[in-house]
Amino acid sequence: MPVAFYPGTFDPITNGHIDIAVRATRIFTRVIAVVAENPAKHHLFSANERFELVKEAFRGVPKIEVIRYPGLIVDCLREHNASVLIRGLRALSDFDYEFQMAFTNRNMLTGAETVFLMPSAKYVYLNSTMVKEIAKLGGDVGPFVPECVRKRFKKKFAGTRR
Ligand code: ADP
Repeated sequence: MPVAFYPGTFDPITNGHIDIAVRATRIFTRVIAVVAENPAKHHLFSANERFELVKEAFRGVPKIEVIRYPGLIVDCLREHNASVLIRGLRALSDFDYEFQMAFTNRNMLTGAETVFLMPSAKYVYLNSTMVKEIAKLGGDVGPFVPECVRKRFKKKFAGTRR
């Protein structure tokens, strides 16, 4: 199987993202996580922080590479002469948006295919927004994110809570 690109904002990377990427490595020979740099979107973590955390989370996973990309994912695919995208599907609520994205990407790049993978049931209700809320309010995000992200949250919100 060819290389697959796994794009996302990863603000920040969670165990749900990791679950999907690792699943993808069982199907594809190489998986490239692409950290999107959309300056118009508001993120808690900077592009640099998001990139560093994704790299740290996948350190030691041989089939996963991490890159950052400032433009459209189809241009990233073109540049790498690739055509496969990985996306995660949690609940039905993801479907409409993902469906639109998959068709739009295929309209922009003929031959672009999106492969959807479902995470382990324990990550079905996990998303970055919820994790940020928990961290902001002083909760323990340990079960939801890799250790590097837990530490970064601690640093970011140090002093804002007890
Ligand atoms: P979002 O699209 O929700 O802003 P990302 O861009 O970081 O978040 O997500 C990248 C991809 O990872 C998307 O396909 C998203 O559905 C998937 N993903 C995120 N969290 C999970 C999870 N808990 N389980 C499965 N897939 C997930």
